[in-house]
Amino acid sequence: MRFGSSTLEVAPHATAGLRLLARCLTANQLGHGVVRIPHTSIAPIDSATTIAIRHTLIQHQLRCVIHAPLVAPHTIISQLTDYADFLRHIEADDGVIICHMPSASPHTWQALQAIPAHIRTYLAIEITNQSIDNLCASGIPIIFDWLHYHIQSPWPYQPIIAATQCYHTWGSRRPLLHISSPDTADYGDRHKHIHGRHSAYLDWATLMHFVGQLSARVGDTFDIEVEASAGARAVAHFLQQCHHHTPPHWQHLWQSQLSEGVRQCIS
Ligand SMILES: [Zn+2]
Repeated sequence: MRFGSSTLEVAPHATAGLRLLARCLTANQLGHGVVRIPHTSIAPIDSATTIAIRHTLIQHQLRCVIHAPLVAPHTIISQLTDYADFLRHIEADDGVIICHMPSASPHTWQALQAIPAHIRTYLAIEITNQSIDNLCASGIPIIFDWLHYHIQSPWPYQPIIAATQCYHTWGSRRPLLHISSPDTADYGDRHKHIHGRHSAYLDWATLMHFVGQLSARVGDTFDIEVEASAGARAVAHFLQQCHHHTPPHWQHLWQSQLSEGVRQCIS
């Protein structure tokens, strides 16, 4: 026997919670394991949707990532607290709050040291234009971002060594890194490359070697967020190209990722 009710108290419009649930389900359908939550959609979630989101995260082993916008140092703690509370509420235990610290002034470092433990559990800093040695000394996990590093092109230019250094800042947390390629499109009257802008797709030849060489040093237990304006199609294109052109000893890196969703995405 089954029961139902002719009326249910379901919100008539798509709520922030339902949008997040849809995002998680879509990510899973595409074969992704990392879901970015737009910081603008951090809002209270009703209890039924909260349960559905928690269930989806556990069932499909999805990791939530929030990219914090740049904020003034005096508001950073309250904002990060909101994000940490949100991740805790949806039980995203391995969730990541990503911060950029472009100024890296002594004041910023002091503020970082004072960040309470309930935020630190989730916090990571993405490399922007600071020295990697300074960042790694902060005691907070560092996200290696291929494009930020590549655009600075510090000498010696050693992206794999730098990424390995960042990898080891994660301790018991699973490392996360970003890959993307510089946008070289011609934007009409500006006739120049937009500094630091992500391209639609990935330069798979370069990034296949980057990921392969990194995994040869640290193993393949890390997460990658692709930052490309073609979104899921860029991920699918990257995986497909790597799968077709990779040396045999890297084949396992892409094989398991080529889900039916990825195949549909590029067909
Ligand atoms: Zn990034």
